Amino acid sequence: MFKKILIANRGEIALRIQRACKELGVRGVIVYSEADREAKYVKLAEEAVCIGPAPSAQSYLNMPAIISAAEVTDSEAIHPGYGFLSENADFAERVEKSGFKFIGPTPESIRMMGDKVSAKQAMIKAGVPCVPGSEGELPDNPTEMKRIAKAIGYPVIIKAAGGGGGRGMRVVNTEAALINAVQTTKAEAGAAFGNPAVYMEKFLQNPRHVEIQILADQFKNVVYLGERDCSMQRRHQKVIEEAPAPGIARKLIEKVGERCAAACKKIGYRGAGTFEFLYENGEFYFIEMNTRVQVEHPVTEFITGIDIVKTQIQVAAGEKLPFSQRQITFKGHAIECRINAEDPFKFTPSPGRITMWHAAGGPGVRVDSHAYTNYFVPPNYDSMIGKLIVYGDTREQALARMRTALAECVVEGIQTNIPLHREIMNDAKFIAGGTNIHYLEEWLASHKR
Ligand code: ADP
Repeated sequence: MFKKILIANRGEIALRIQRACKELGVRGVIVYSEADREAKYVKLAEEAVCIGPAPSAQSYLNMPAIISAAEVTDSEAIHPGYGFLSENADFAERVEKSGFKFIGPTPESIRMMGDKVSAKQAMIKAGVPCVPGSEGELPDNPTEMKRIAKAIGYPVIIKAAGGGGGRGMRVVNTEAALINAVQTTKAEAGAAFGNPAVYMEKFLQNPRHVEIQILADQFKNVVYLGERDCSMQRRHQKVIEEAPAPGIARKLIEKVGERCAAACKKIGYRGAGTFEFLYENGEFYFIEMNTRVQVEHPVTEFITGIDIVKTQIQVAAGEKLPFSQRQITFKGHAIECRINAEDPFKFTPSPGRITMWHAAGGPGVRVDSHAYTNYFVPPNYDSMIGKLIVYGDTREQALARMRTALAECVVEGIQTNIPLHREIMNDAKFIAGGTNIHYLEEWLASHKR
């Protein structure tokens, strides 16, 4: 096992990784920007290094500063968390070339999955079900484009190979609009991602977002940890996640899970990863793979009893996966609400000083947050300040616990989306389970205030 790990992230996930390090007897080095200097998790760290000023480009995205921090602290490995440099293949390469272990997959795996065309091709080859679409990059020839779209059937969606964060996509309903839409998306993709390649997929009308968590070691042992339903989204950003996904047959999950594990084996994947799918009419359709730990990993930890972050570190250190697929059991139900510093219904960010922070507690309640009374939420970063996760033997019990937990939470001084979560947990359709990816936006539109 490593003696020391540099944690190249901030906020709740930096704290989460630090906690995993403590359990493993590893020293965790926290890096921080000037905006995070006063945060409690920084002050309480065994070791902390300032890597630059508040803007992420000069701190949490600053590769030389992070690598130097690893050098001066004698760290052996770097955990990138999520966001920032976590899915940057060049960063992973530079980390390893500088003599550190990157706690994540190889740069080649990150690169393959970062290009959605090559990712999809690899998945088709590995037998993972994908959204019907163009085979690889869309050709430039208009007649060819029309032929492909016709074969898929309208509506279709044009997606940038290098796209991410819900950008670089355009839905096309008719042949008349096709050529123009492709050209516009290509131009935008070239400007935004430095890669004009696009591909075409059937546009699914009312899917759910269901993803599969996997863990792999360097010896080609791969397991899947079941699924998460992340359909409750606003602007393609997840707001509430749960595991298992309501109403999907276990047999089907097992089948898809096994395919994902087999695909990982085939490409020599190591570390934690998530296969994202759209799920419609009883079928799974792969859309992309995330090559890092996800924000919503705690719901899976609750229903499997497996510590995903600890396992990431163990496999990066060269250890074998400490469990086999047969030893993994799924029990109960878990729900996560992301707590954001924002207006709960207008969504304007609400950074500033938290004058009162009282977190929920009790059986089956987990709060992953770096916030506290008198914490100043800097305006420079993502608005998520924590996650409230609950567990119940049944979904009903989890919902009841979430309602109680949300009622117990007190945050003053800034606005948060807790009032929105309180309403959603009492919404009949959400309670029934299985809402699709448009549901939250529709709900918001009909509950305007
Ligand atoms: P990104 O990497 O930008 O998040 P994804 O490929 O994961 O892009 O897609 C983001 C979201 O766009 C999906 O969660 C879904 O809401 C929508 N989407 C993508 N592909 C399709 C499709 N073929 N049909 C319907 N919706 C889609």
